[in-house]
Amino acid sequence: MHSLTKTALSFNGIGRRCVALNRFSETRIICRGLTCTAEHENELYDVIISGGGMVGTAMACYINATPTTTFNLSVYHFGWSINQFHASSLLLTGLDPNLEGKKILLLEAGNKKVMDKVPDAYSTRVSSISPGSATLLSGVGAWDHIMNMRCKPYQKMQVWDACSDALITFDKENLQDEMAYIVENNIIVAALTKQLENLSDQVRVQYKSKVVKYTWPKSHQVADAIPWVQVTLANGQTLQTKLLIGADGPNSMVRREAGIPTVKWNYDQSAVVAVLHLSELSDTESSLVWSTSHRHAEELLQLDEESFVDSINTAFWSNENHSELVETAGSLFRTALSVLMPSAGSARQLPPSVAGIGPKSRIMFPLGMGHASEYIRHRVALIGDAAHRVHPLAGQGANLGFGDVACLTQLLSQAAFNGKDLGAMQHLLEYETERQRHNLPMMAAIDLMKRLYSTNAAPMVVLRTFGLQATNTLPAMKAQIMAFASK
Ligand SMILES: Cc1cc2nc3c(=O)[nH]c(=O)nc-3n(C[C@H](O)[C@H](O)[C@H](O)COP(=O)(O)OP(=O)(O)OC[C@H]3O[C@@H](n4cnc5c(N)ncnc54)[C@H](O)[C@@H]3O)c2cc1C
Repeated sequence: MHSLTKTALSFNGIGRRCVALNRFSETRIICRGLTCTAEHENELYDVIISGGGMVGTAMACYINATPTTTFNLSVYHFGWSINQFHASSLLLTGLDPNLEGKKILLLEAGNKKVMDKVPDAYSTRVSSISPGSATLLSGVGAWDHIMNMRCKPYQKMQVWDACSDALITFDKENLQDEMAYIVENNIIVAALTKQLENLSDQVRVQYKSKVVKYTWPKSHQVADAIPWVQVTLANGQTLQTKLLIGADGPNSMVRREAGIPTVKWNYDQSAVVAVLHLSELSDTESSLVWSTSHRHAEELLQLDEESFVDSINTAFWSNENHSELVETAGSLFRTALSVLMPSAGSARQLPPSVAGIGPKSRIMFPLGMGHASEYIRHRVALIGDAAHRVHPLAGQGANLGFGDVACLTQLLSQAAFNGKDLGAMQHLLEYETERQRHNLPMMAAIDLMKRLYSTNAAPMVVLRTFGLQATNTLPAMKAQIMAFASK
């Protein structure tokens, strides 16, 4: 069994360490392999999705084949209760009749991502996919392709602090469900692309089709105004749509051109990602995300392989950021907790030892946070990173995007059932409200974690040491955290 785990390492001089432990312009336009040019000029679509990354392609699949059976909500009781979608109970019954006959187009600037054979070398771009996202991908039939390609479930995650002995373990070993799955991003897109071909012909896809301009509908008081959004491609082709879905990533042109204000900041950090070979476990490849200062990230990229591996091992094993004050306070607090809750706590998992890195390894990404203050405008909706961008420390970015897909599709289906205009504000507002209610607390929690673990000031380290240790003894709270993150 192939395996890939994900190791997140945060390093700001100090920081948090987390390891997931498991079983461990050209003018031709290509449309589904056919060449089409003037034939689609100025054509009117019900929905155009701009951007075919993980989230946009999932949207194209989901809107094409929304599972018409309702989700079966299973509630498990293990001393606490976890609400979880049960993937196996979801049946794909084909096209949502409400959306049948709607004309949908997916536009992607890049090439079609096909994968006839899974490459031997693991990709550096990897995501931790939550059970909720796996259910969505299963609902459109893409999950089977992913399982047949390469994917690694995990049941346990341990997070520990580089400045103290504090740790927290999230554990699903006693449950039948996985905590999440580690999947390469190109496998997710390839699986969705394959499924898009297998599903009905309702969705057309144009690759190598970069949008260069959006023209918004003018006020309806203007007599000869076009009431739809006009989309102009780099090859000059013009299209129209009743609803434009912006899935064009963190630098979204849809968001910018619609004039939607965005709250954003950079973290003064970059993530270095690499594929690691670990020493201890023979079937293990691991994916590293190391958040560190831009300068340190650049230095890490310049190192030869051996020195890079040494740097990772040092960051994992070194106690240089531990202080006596924090050690004493942490140890006293741990003793007090063990008296109050003798059975609580968890065994410390030693960090892995890294033996080498994979080929084509080591890329860096600047990190930041961004949130569109509005996810919608008349005839426009934003999904995925176009609406919200988060620090990768919690592995939630794509999962939030898949949540947007499920929510928006369900509301569009209802609107279609009620004979409403898909681009009307009423149901789009519902989408915005529902998703912001979910996304904002998650984004706030991720940002807080990032800030909490970006300092080695003793009072803050003591505070987070107490917090981590206390939370580790509270199974109900840990279950709540897991349930929230698994949606
Ligand atoms: C280091 C790192 C680790 C991460 N780990 C995780 C994780 O473990 N779990 C998780 O859930 N998330 C993770 N994320 C976040 C996740 O990668 C993103 O949230 C996700 O890729 C966003 O997908 P998207 O489809 O919204 O945007 P993108 O992936 O940016 O896709 C946008 C697409 O739009 C296309 N496009 C852009 N402009 C145009 C245009 N003008 N015309 C046509 N097409 C256009 C682009 O070509 C692209 O294909 C991580 C991120 C990083 C940086």
